[in-house]
Amino acid sequence: MMKRFFLALLIFATQYPLDVVAQQTEMVEKLLGLERNQYFADRDSAYLDPYYGLKKLIYGNKRFADNKSIKPRQADADLKSNELGQKPFAIIIGCADSRVPNEIIFDQGVGDLFITRTAGQVMAEASYGTIEYATEVLNTNLIVVLGHQSCGAVGAAMKLPKDPPGHVITLINAIKPASIAAKQKTDNPEEALDIAIRENVLRQVELLRGLEPVLSNQYKDGKVIIVGAVYNLHTGEVEFLEETITNLPRFAH
Ligand SMILES: [Zn+2]
Repeated sequence: MMKRFFLALLIFATQYPLDVVAQQTEMVEKLLGLERNQYFADRDSAYLDPYYGLKKLIYGNKRFADNKSIKPRQADADLKSNELGQKPFAIIIGCADSRVPNEIIFDQGVGDLFITRTAGQVMAEASYGTIEYATEVLNTNLIVVLGHQSCGAVGAAMKLPKDPPGHVITLINAIKPASIAAKQKTDNPEEALDIAIRENVLRQVELLRGLEPVLSNQYKDGKVIIVGAVYNLHTGEVEFLEETITNLPRFAH
């Protein structure tokens, strides 16, 4: 009897943390000081400190993934009382895919996220200006490049089409280096797509960190942090890529 009780306790103890922690790697959890069973982070602190802003996004996504969304600041009245200004705490560079609505998956509200979305989150001059406007004028200090599972744009680039129609060639050319790198790592098409999606995000993060003359300096000075993440359409979880967290200025030494 007693034995069975301890066995049950052991199973509970080993399963419980696994379920709660699965969203981020152990390293990311440790570096960001994520607390298990925590679902909330203060909005004003997130605006002032981008590392804290990351926690706010992660906790919000955990609410969404765990079916505990609170849909903050999303009422009609919230939308109609914002004329005095905005203080978004995060800039999201995401894919235009209709299945990745940023406010919903991060469970944030009106005025929280400054979002630019294009297929495969490919960026060009207008996107750069949009991001710089947010960091310079709105003082938003956190930039997240958000890719997602089953991305059609990355999928199209995997086929390396010779003659894509119209302006689609801009997207294909931008994503191609990531798809070529992924193909070199595996022959399995599904695996290659997943690798390319991550690789594309990693390259976009590097591009923004080095983007002169504004972002590169803001990143070097530690004023702005730039990280990558991938959204899982099935579980609803956003995984922040460890490679882009461990080398942030605060953790890189
Ligand atoms: Zn996509």
